[in-house]
Amino acid sequence: MTEEFTKKAAEMLLKGATLLSEPCPYCAGVRVMQEGQALCVSCGRQPEKKEIPTPTTSNDTSNNTSPLEKIFEKKLESLSKELEQEKDHEKQQNILKTINTLLETMEKMKGKQ
Ligand SMILES: [Zn+2]
Repeated sequence: MTEEFTKKAAEMLLKGATLLSEPCPYCAGVRVMQEGQALCVSCGRQPEKKEIPTPTTSNDTSNNTSPLEKIFEKKLESLSKELEQEKDHEKQQNILKTINTLLETMEKMKGKQ
């Protein structure tokens, strides 16, 4: 039942959110931070709820290269680097979880198009 959290975290990452180095205080899961908001991708908890309007980027259907995919790829790249440098086993697991989440979301995005 983590799908909606996954989706939300992915949305935040797409809007330039960053991964938090501190794990979730509730479940020690990976959290993303955007505009002072932290969302746990594992349990979905966040300190406060605030609606962030989703900017509609483009209706251009002729362009097959999704800008979202590019952002995801960038995120994956930085996550991979993070993973490479991380020596803490627990943090490695968290990074792996996030990568997995990203990949799943990418798959879903591709399936929709
Ligand atoms: Zn959590």
